[in-house]
Amino acid sequence: MTAGSPRYVLYKNDFPDDLTFGDVLAIDSEFMGLNVWRDRLCLLQVYDGVDGKTHMVQFDRGNFDAPNVKKLLSDPKKEKIFYFARGDMRWIGHYLGIILENVYCLKIASRIARTYTQQHELQDVSHHVLGVKISKEQQCTDWGAPDLSHAQLDYACNDVVYLHAMKEKLNAMMVNEGRLDIAYGLFKCLPHVVRADLAGWGNEDLFGYHVPRP
Ligand code: MN
Repeated sequence: MTAGSPRYVLYKNDFPDDLTFGDVLAIDSEFMGLNVWRDRLCLLQVYDGVDGKTHMVQFDRGNFDAPNVKKLLSDPKKEKIFYFARGDMRWIGHYLGIILENVYCLKIASRIARTYTQQHELQDVSHHVLGVKISKEQQCTDWGAPDLSHAQLDYACNDVVYLHAMKEKLNAMMVNEGRLDIAYGLFKCLPHVVRADLAGWGNEDLFGYHVPRP
């Protein structure tokens, strides 16, 4: 069962068998809330920039078999671009059972590339790096609704369609400053960080160092 618009195609519970993707995927997901153990994964958006459409899977509660989604996400040859990868990777890890590899995080890239600012939200990066204003109007919306509205789905596209372009811009900035290796080294840690998050260390700053008081 699918629904669509010029910008997206919506599928229920899995991608169809014959759907193929390019090698660089921009991915985002929407959940019921911010607690991974309580708030289920509702929607997964994938945009590869090849056919110009965002392909989205809406999951019914408890229905996470999704063999085609899992096959795509566990392909280590596909690069996966996220804004705040650690968040989406937790939900994908918990609900789909896959700890993603070969991940690029735009939030980390922005913090490494744009040290002249504290503004690293998705809207900030898209606005200042690409000149694109992304609306966050539908952020607090019921993603668990059985019938998602066109406004919700159209908004969901905006969270993935600019990620390839943002990556290119931030990478050029990091190359210019000799910082690219730092960012890619941090991306490689992400699967390990997410494994620790899901095993219960998510709220601890394991890299922090606090000088003990005498
Ligand atoms: Mn989103």
